Amino acid sequence: NSFDEECDYLFKAVLIGDSAVGKSNLLSRFAKDEFCLDSKPTIGVEFAYRSIRVGDKIIKAQIWDTAGQERRLVVCDITRRPTFESLQKWLKELREFGSPEMVVVLVGNKSDLAQSREVNLEDGQRLAQLEQVSFMETSAKENLNVEEAFLQMINRIYEIT
Ligand code: GDP
Repeated sequence: NSFDEECDYLFKAVLIGDSAVGKSNLLSRFAKDEFCLDSKPTIGVEFAYRSIRVGDKIIKAQIWDTAGQERRLVVCDITRRPTFESLQKWLKELREFGSPEMVVVLVGNKSDLAQSREVNLEDGQRLAQLEQVSFMETSAKENLNVEEAFLQMINRIYEIT
């Protein structure tokens, strides 16, 4: 994953969502296979690279834990309902200010805490259908669906590139 590694494409993508939904940990799980139970709030910007193969192409994904690009994983915490309500607010802002080519994947993180769930899978799926995007539940902690969520986004970017 070095900076100079050869690749066919470089995609930039961004994670957004309320505080403490797990954005930093999804990023570190995807890029470094690391998880931190008491991670500190992100100050400033952080990004990580990871190269993946799509078909016969190597795509380098540069993923930012902040705002400012057109490709986004919008993350909520399934154990805190208000972070799900915020998804709609984030989406509305993205629609107003984003480009039509925007790629958005909705993520309900912390699926390992299903016993404290405040957001049903169906709620996420319904919102995604309404917004014509996809929804996935992940756990950065247990490494569930993290890869799939990022690959979903990277593949969609690839489709429209
Ligand atoms: P951010 O503010 O959205 O970047 O959130 P962080 O990645 O800093 O995570 C906030 C807190 O949630 C930290 O204490 C993490 O350890 C925890 N966390 C993140 N992802 C998960 C997960 O999938 N499951 C559980 N149980 N905790 C998580």
